[in-house]
Amino acid sequence: RMQTRKITTGSRNLDDLLGGGIETKTITEFFGEFGSGKTQICHQLAVNVQLPIEKGGLSTQDRVAKAVYIDTEGTFRWERLENMAKRWGLDPDEVMSNIFYIRAINSDHQMAIVDELFNIVPKENIKLVIVDSVTSHFRAEYPGRENLAARQQKLNRHLHQLAKLAEVYDLAVVITNQVMARPDVFYGDPTQAVGGHVLYHAPGVRVQLRKSRGNKRIARIVDAPHLPEGEAVFVITDYGIAD
Ligand code: ATP
Ligand code: MG
Repeated sequence: RMQTRKITTGSRNLDDLLGGGIETKTITEFFGEFGSGKTQICHQLAVNVQLPIEKGGLSTQDRVAKAVYIDTEGTFRWERLENMAKRWGLDPDEVMSNIFYIRAINSDHQMAIVDELFNIVPKENIKLVIVDSVTSHFRAEYPGRENLAARQQKLNRHLHQLAKLAEVYDLAVVITNQVMARPDVFYGDPTQAVGGHVLYHAPGVRVQLRKSRGNKRIARIVDAPHLPEGEAVFVITDYGIAD
């Protein structure tokens, strides 16, 4: 039986909600308002993919699973990985050496990076590709209703490439998308609405994140008939994503 493999998020609750963790061969989208934990989850996953399979990662005895981190907002922090690695008894320096960090300066660059990954991934054992955030450059470069169609078309092409990468190389793709807490305020831009069209055509799993009390966050799966309904509560700690 062909089994899809999963990467642990660091939270058992969130893993359970996801049916075991982040799946390969698919795109998982985390969307939610600022501070809801999207970037923190991305950092944690870049570490966790490196764990051995029996501990929730995708490393095998002879090959460490590596991550690509495409950062569009400049919010990646190497130092943040330290505690997230130590938590599992991993050497932070080694963990960092297995993350390919790329800063995307605009949407064309972002798309070119993904095209280039088709050459890099076969040479390296990359099992996770992160794009944080997938939408920010597109929104900035194609503002307003009048540019919506062009933006959508380009973004869909980008998502299609990411889906193909995931499928062809049996890796997980994780993307983030900032969505305002009150979409009604942004009436007129349907891509800001929860469940809006922005990533509508993207295959895979969509996870909405909400802030709760203190360091608590609430995750909910959207539009996934194969996954159970419900919510998961997790926390963001100094050591990363946990229960
Ligand atoms: P945005 O849409 O602005 O990119 P985001 O969803 O990516 O937001 P994150 O940056 O992942 O949000 O979350 C930020 C939150 O993570 C902070 O408000 C803080 O509560 C928590 N956080 C960040 N670093 C730490 C840390 N070292 N220890 C504990 N909590 C932290
Ligand atoms: Mg962020």
